[in-house]
Amino acid sequence: MSKFSQEVLTWYDKFGRKSLPWKVKSIPKKDRPYHIWLSEVMLQQTQVTTVIPYYQKFIASFPNLQSLASASQDDVLAHWSGLGYYARGRNLHKTAVSMWDDYQAIPEDFETLLALPGIGPSTAGAIMAQAFKQSYPILDGNVKRVLARYFAVDGWYGVSAVAKKLWAHSKEVTPQDRVDDYTQAIMDIGALVCKRSKPLCKDCPLHKKCKAFKTDRISELPHSKPKKNKPVKQAYVLCVLDKQTVYLQQRPPTGIWGGLWSFPEFSAQEYLNEYVEDNFSSELELIILDSFRHTFSHYHLDIHPHVLQLSDKIRTSKHTRQIQDSPAKYFPLQGELEVGIAAPVKRLLEDLSQLDL
Ligand code: SF4
Repeated sequence: MSKFSQEVLTWYDKFGRKSLPWKVKSIPKKDRPYHIWLSEVMLQQTQVTTVIPYYQKFIASFPNLQSLASASQDDVLAHWSGLGYYARGRNLHKTAVSMWDDYQAIPEDFETLLALPGIGPSTAGAIMAQAFKQSYPILDGNVKRVLARYFAVDGWYGVSAVAKKLWAHSKEVTPQDRVDDYTQAIMDIGALVCKRSKPLCKDCPLHKKCKAFKTDRISELPHSKPKKNKPVKQAYVLCVLDKQTVYLQQRPPTGIWGGLWSFPEFSAQEYLNEYVEDNFSSELELIILDSFRHTFSHYHLDIHPHVLQLSDKIRTSKHTRQIQDSPAKYFPLQGELEVGIAAPVKRLLEDLSQLDL
């Protein structure tokens, strides 16, 4: 075992996170790979503290692979609502169905895992190491940071030569023994010690040989993605209220918030106005709420909400038709929805339930 992994494991024995809910001993042995896979998918781009309540909700409803595979996509996305990066939720469900159909288990093979939707090389490595104790390297965001600093790797990870170097370093330091603990340990060091800003180098088991620490290059490494200004897009959304219900439609399966439910959305004010004129009486007043911004990884979306309250006198039956071939219906405004919704839609629904119309 390398000195690096020895130091990491000694640190883990004292300070590592050993009681994460997907690692507790009470999980039946046969279900452990399922818990590891679920947690690893949730942890992609998301911190442990955010993941824990979602993970617990998932496990309460879908305690094993079979139950997740037999759930509807709507039900799975409803459980995912608020966790972001919704392609993960859709892929999780797709992968559960395919694993259950083909293997009735989480496959114990790196290449097979890698071929499944939503599982990249780092997630596949983390599953192999933690669920099956097989020595595979990982390279999630935390590990990239530790290795880029420890080995002083210059350049942004998105450049393939830089990614190759980091993968090679990860492979070189991943041990054969105790690889499950090592994998948790190196992620923990990244999250708890080698933090993005103000890393706790004095508490770090790697500081004696860490090149960034020794050469005072910590703030410079890892190099970040060259900055580009994000474009700003506009979304004009229509919140149709009928008594205590609200009209939502399901979005197409791919693209932003694919498969989730949201308000009818238009790229320009005039299209929203046309839609209202075509579907409702012009006697109804359109109320404009404050706009707000939602930021995705690659663009900003300025959301302009418009509210239309139907009245007993003025209600058109036309509007119950399906729009753009996607399912649509009225949902109760109060209480939890049993379908998936994105965070800005949730926020708007909360605002609508407070409105005094
Ligand atoms: S010594 Fe500091 S920079 Fe180097 S790996 Fe440890 S925490 Fe990170």
